[in-house]
Amino acid sequence: MSRTKVVPIPVMGRHNINAYLLLGRRPVVVDAGTPGSGKRIHDQITAHGVDPADVSLIVITHGHIDHFGSAAELHRLTGAPVAGHVADLGPYRSGRVREPYLPTGPMGRLMDRNPKLHAQAEPFEPDVLIRGETGLEDFGLAARIMPTPGHTAGSVSVLTDDGDLVAGDLIANSFMGLIPGRPANPPFHDDPRQNLASLRTMLALNPTALHVGHGTALDPDRVREWADREHDRLARLDDAGRLTVRSE
Ligand SMILES: [Zn+2]
Ligand SMILES: [Zn+2]
Repeated sequence: MSRTKVVPIPVMGRHNINAYLLLGRRPVVVDAGTPGSGKRIHDQITAHGVDPADVSLIVITHGHIDHFGSAAELHRLTGAPVAGHVADLGPYRSGRVREPYLPTGPMGRLMDRNPKLHAQAEPFEPDVLIRGETGLEDFGLAARIMPTPGHTAGSVSVLTDDGDLVAGDLIANSFMGLIPGRPANPPFHDDPRQNLASLRTMLALNPTALHVGHGTALDPDRVREWADREHDRLARLDDAGRLTVRSE
């Protein structure tokens, strides 16, 4: 069987915010960028020689506005069904993220002040409701949707049979991609420890590369080393009573 190709679709900057085009027997799109980027994603799909009407599924990795912001628009432009996890239905149905964001560090505290991250996006109703591991064979892709909760309760990743992990905000590049290839937390996590557990579960499946929402593809070995340091950092924060976790 031919290999599933993972193509980044830049939504902002060269790789500040990415959606992905997965090219298997049929094309699948992962994530839909910020509000108003549907046309940009649509045109890049076309530029890769794919008829947007052939897209079999749009997978939304989680309920943050830079990932689901154009889901409704992209659904209209392609006609493809949209898949989202049931635990992030609130943001999908309201078009609003869960407030407040819980910053992972100074970058998150700074970004929290950006009104765009608190904006209203067009709501959507997922056509495919994800409740657990979901094979994508029916959508023409040799891959599985894997629930990876922690960044948000309804966060998911897509793991191809070839080992590429399209990971949303499970992990990011340092400074949102300004230091390519260096693993870092994204600006926010609802539950940092649960996210780290999800990340380690995915690393245990030996992915060949991690394709992320913010930055360039990450080498799994570098992410493993980062995960060990992050484990220690979270333990120290917890000891100091400074680990914030979303409770609801
Ligand atoms: Zn996010
Ligand atoms: Zn993000």
